[in-house]
Amino acid sequence: MKRDPVHLTTDVLVVGAGAAGMYAAIAASREGADVVLVDKSLIGRGGATIMAQMTVSAALGHQAPDDWTKHLADTLTAGRGLCDERLAAILCEEAVDRILEMDSWKVGWAREDGHMKQVTAPGHSAPRCVYVDFLNTGPAVARCLRGQVAKADSIARISGVAIIDLVLNDGVVSGAVGYNIEDGTPVTIAASAVVLAGGGLTGIYRRNSASANMGGHAYALALRAGARLIDMEFVQFFPIGHLAPRLVGMDPIMWDPFRYKLGGRLLNGQFEEFIHNYGAEDSGKYTAPRDVTSFAIVQENEAGRGSPHGGAWLSFEHVPEAELRTAFGPVIEKLLENGIDLTQQAIEVAPIAHYHMGGVQVDAHMETNIPGLYAAGEAVGGANGANRLSGNALPEAFVFGERAGRFAAAAVGGQTSAWDLKSAQAALEMLDARSGKETSFPSSGSAYQGLAAELRELMWDKVGLIRTEESLNEALIRIRAMQKELATASAPVAAAFDLSLADWYDLRDSLLAAESVALAAQRRSESRGAHWRADFPLTDPELAMNLTISLSGDGLETNWQEVGRR
Ligand SMILES: Cc1cc2nc3c(=O)[nH]c(=O)nc-3n(C[C@H](O)[C@H](O)[C@H](O)COP(=O)(O)OP(=O)(O)OC[C@H]3O[C@@H](n4cnc5c(N)ncnc54)[C@H](O)[C@@H]3O)c2cc1C
Repeated sequence: MKRDPVHLTTDVLVVGAGAAGMYAAIAASREGADVVLVDKSLIGRGGATIMAQMTVSAALGHQAPDDWTKHLADTLTAGRGLCDERLAAILCEEAVDRILEMDSWKVGWAREDGHMKQVTAPGHSAPRCVYVDFLNTGPAVARCLRGQVAKADSIARISGVAIIDLVLNDGVVSGAVGYNIEDGTPVTIAASAVVLAGGGLTGIYRRNSASANMGGHAYALALRAGARLIDMEFVQFFPIGHLAPRLVGMDPIMWDPFRYKLGGRLLNGQFEEFIHNYGAEDSGKYTAPRDVTSFAIVQENEAGRGSPHGGAWLSFEHVPEAELRTAFGPVIEKLLENGIDLTQQAIEVAPIAHYHMGGVQVDAHMETNIPGLYAAGEAVGGANGANRLSGNALPEAFVFGERAGRFAAAAVGGQTSAWDLKSAQAALEMLDARSGKETSFPSSGSAYQGLAAELRELMWDKVGLIRTEESLNEALIRIRAMQKELATASAPVAAAFDLSLADWYDLRDSLLAAESVALAAQRRSESRGAHWRADFPLTDPELAMNLTISLSGDGLETNWQEVGRR
């Protein structure tokens, strides 16, 4: 049954309502623009933001003297020569304003002796990271921004709508096509500017810290609209994701804040410290960068010195119980409910896919190479280069979100969208074709779960922490075959809350994002930051360049580009 689209018109359309999207909406509305803020999930409750637990870096200098230029120097060092220095400088300088602004909105940053408490995280040269106790940073940030969004009359909030394609008119963005996930109704939105704030891609890996909707959607939307991506090969693996024993109802990366506050000892299967053998220092504190620690754990396992489940031991047994309880209060009780007594036992940890340094290429106004198309948050690439500092992702979402919304609204300046229904026709026809036909797949549940699971395995095994030319070629061949299988798969029977339709569109995006990561990783024949090629173990100074990716009629194309300097 063909359904007429529900049509909306606005000045600025924001796709994704995590921290970046909500901040973009707030900033655009402050500039006087009408905003439509759309999310596949509930506004402010999907994606990574609400999952974040602790660190938000900003050189406030409340704990100890600090300056944003020192934060920048640390960010550039972590980025291994590939940071877009202009974006990194904006991130570090404006993080301070955003943290103070959110403090005025009563987000609840932890305080000590009347000042904001700041802790030191790996790679930072000063105690620089604010947080909300106890492991509550993400929920507090999301609640605070939801509150500000709700206060603005000019922001229309739309939950449960997935954007499936952007619409361009004469090379300029003019809106988007989506559909209502609950009943499949098509939605068209005319907008003079669009901000892509759809988050990252770690959900395409088997072991990940992602929540729903982190399947590379913003990257795929950008590529199909003609925008360039940058640094796609750099996926950050968080070194100490929980591995064993079983942990129910708690986050797999919760050991990070434990280490910020309490240090802890990272030990191999023989209960020996090992990070110093890999060119870093950690003893009792928490200073080794994420890429070094991840590779060290993998190499200890390859050398037969892993923990029983294939990771490393993390021990807080030397920390007095009173100290544990002061630092983590109710969390200690939750751990005990899970049968974990940190005073008596070490737990096992191992790397998991956690964040993506790559993403949509933007200028200092957060605008892409497509006029009117902006991006913000984890969807953006370049600021963090080859490896992100702990605590830099949330400020990236706040700072880039605020800028994207502000500049998008200013550029619109009251102009109406160049919307033309004809330009949206292809996306609407595809949606219509995919809704309500006979299926060759089982008719209950989703038809595409098998393919999605296969993609996650493939990315983990072939495009994961350790890559080779052979593994990357195998991945590319299979990803491209899966794209063909998906394109020709017959559409499922129409149903309310059609999981197959949602999964089909998710998988279309994820396969394109996966192909971009695998292709960029194949082209970068060196090891640098989070990208480790077993067949090219050294860093090649000649490759201190960024790799961009765009989509043409012939498929994905890569180009080397000079690193942006200040
Ligand atoms: C478990 C975890 C812990 C973390 N801890 C920290 C930390 O302590 N400190 C730190 O700095 N960083 C941390 N990070 C990283 C940080 O949280 C993210 O980088 C940041 O929140 C990204 O914000 P965002 O707004 O760009 O994206 P997200 O918060 O992921 O929001 C993206 C939104 O877009 C929506 N969306 C996606 N595609 C579409 C579409 N096609 N149509 C409509 N909507 C769409 C999603 O539903 C989602 O709500 C953590 C991440 C995770 C996963």
